[in-house]
Amino acid sequence: MKHNFGAGPCILPQEVFKEASEAVLNFNETGLSILEISHRSKEFEAVIVETERLVRELLNVPLNYSILFLQGGASQQFAMVPLNLLPEGGKAAYLDTGVWASKAAKEAKNIGQVDIVASSSDKNYNYIPKGYSIPTDASYFHYTSNNTIYGTEVFDVPSTSVPIAVDMSSDIFSRDMDVRDFDLIYAGAQKNMGPAGLTLVIVKDEILGKTGRTIPSIFDYQPHIKAGSMYNTPAVFSIYVAMLNLRWLKAKGGVAVIEQENIIKARTLYDEIDRNPFFKGTAELEDRSRMNVTFVMESPELEAEFLALAKERDLVGIKGHRSVGGFRASIYNALSIRSINALVDAMREFEDKHK
Ligand SMILES: *Cc1c(COP(=O)(O)O)cnc(C)c1O
Repeated sequence: MKHNFGAGPCILPQEVFKEASEAVLNFNETGLSILEISHRSKEFEAVIVETERLVRELLNVPLNYSILFLQGGASQQFAMVPLNLLPEGGKAAYLDTGVWASKAAKEAKNIGQVDIVASSSDKNYNYIPKGYSIPTDASYFHYTSNNTIYGTEVFDVPSTSVPIAVDMSSDIFSRDMDVRDFDLIYAGAQKNMGPAGLTLVIVKDEILGKTGRTIPSIFDYQPHIKAGSMYNTPAVFSIYVAMLNLRWLKAKGGVAVIEQENIIKARTLYDEIDRNPFFKGTAELEDRSRMNVTFVMESPELEAEFLALAKERDLVGIKGHRSVGGFRASIYNALSIRSINALVDAMREFEDKHK
């Protein structure tokens, strides 16, 4: 068995892969593949309804929020958020915590004025800025809750009176949160929710339709809401697999239960990074992500050798992002503690060999 620490597209539960593969051949005894059924069929209607119900239930989404299944990835949301929330002549506030956060801000700058309230670029984004203030005349405040590349995570929702839009691509469904703290949540599914090709958006209805600008329909949330995510053909297969994954999560006991597992998984790995003299973490202790664990070696010249050992031990996807170097272990919901232990064992084996 491979231990998949890849950052995204990421690991999903084995039973999800199995059920999805059966549906590719014969979906729900229809004699048709999930890949060929109409998105307007009653069979797929049941899938999208159940997926929405699972999202609403698992995240406790209030009824005045709409749930959308879109395409275009989180990157499309970088543009859709300002198009839909930033009025002509208005201003938005952004927190800069890494590549994704700054790409989001860059897109907003094409639409209107953007204030960067704080940035951690001075230390290669290894921490989350604190103590900044958010201008009260901003139309919204945007931040990235988990910085997939740098292994930092925002655990406390910033306090502000302005609406909050958040990129939760890599920590949605990993921990308890209160949707009511946010006005708009988006997430590319391929980090913790399902396969690539699907983007989840949860938006408070009352904040829409107030910009006074003309938005191309495909980028306007409202036509998608009206059409129940069927404004155009949705990502049928990705939605189906996300549904299977959310069923799995629900059967496990939901987000609060997986959060406890995720805490233990992260602690197990960080404890070894802190104990093992050959390794060190790159993110500030208090901002360490529970989803993406970034670490390097005290002697960088040994990194290739550790990567080779990792490969031998079936640990895949742990090479760090080029902007941080070293290693990154992405430990999303479906990654079991057994895989964490396998990585820890490899780190100890490496230590024994070299000390
Ligand atoms: C991966 C990632 C993105 C980019 O997602 P796409 O779906 O590829 O556009 C954006 N934000 C975060 C936090 C990510 O991890």
